[in-house]
Amino acid sequence: MRPHVVVFGLDGVRHDTLLAARTPELDAIAAAGFLAPVRVNDAAPTISGPGWATIATGVLADRHGIYDNDLTGHQIAKYPDFLTRVRLPDVVAHEEGLTPAYTAAVESCDRRIGRVLAAIRRRPSYAGERWTLIAVTDHGHVDVVGGHGGDSEAERTAWIAACGPGVPAEPPARLEQADVHAHVLAALGVEPRREWALAGRPFSPRPG
Ligand SMILES: [Zn+2]
Repeated sequence: MRPHVVVFGLDGVRHDTLLAARTPELDAIAAAGFLAPVRVNDAAPTISGPGWATIATGVLADRHGIYDNDLTGHQIAKYPDFLTRVRLPDVVAHEEGLTPAYTAAVESCDRRIGRVLAAIRRRPSYAGERWTLIAVTDHGHVDVVGGHGGDSEAERTAWIAACGPGVPAEPPARLEQADVHAHVLAALGVEPRREWALAGRPFSPRPG
């Protein structure tokens, strides 16, 4: 059976908002695997650029070279990325703060995820496929007014949800955003090379 992986990126979704929002699709991923808070690595500020770069490339800012949303000097060519973004929640929190509209944006993301998953399940070959599903955010937001880039717990606290072959029900004790990249490689049977200098590791030693 050929392995498949989908990574859903939800920009700037607070862990507590996620838990409070009605997100049945993400809940299903968590129930089949895990959902856990993850601290944004202190190597970079809680900003989208370095956050997504770490998630996508599996290395920290000292290697991908992205410390802000200005990508000057980035090393993405050296540390290649993968990711599908859903930017909507971050924009809402910036413009309106942590209002009901922010929660509604998270729930809207969940419905979009549901449409993707429904399309996957309609594949004629679905029964013979092994799918790994990962949902991840890049950073949180400060209370009430929204915004990020600082070092508060609310901003540093991101999260990862994952399920699929070999994904444990309990998240690993040490969970990093950079683990996403490492797990995607492992799920697809790609052995990382030493020179890739990955900062993360798979959620489980031997996925699938
Ligand atoms: Zn962001």
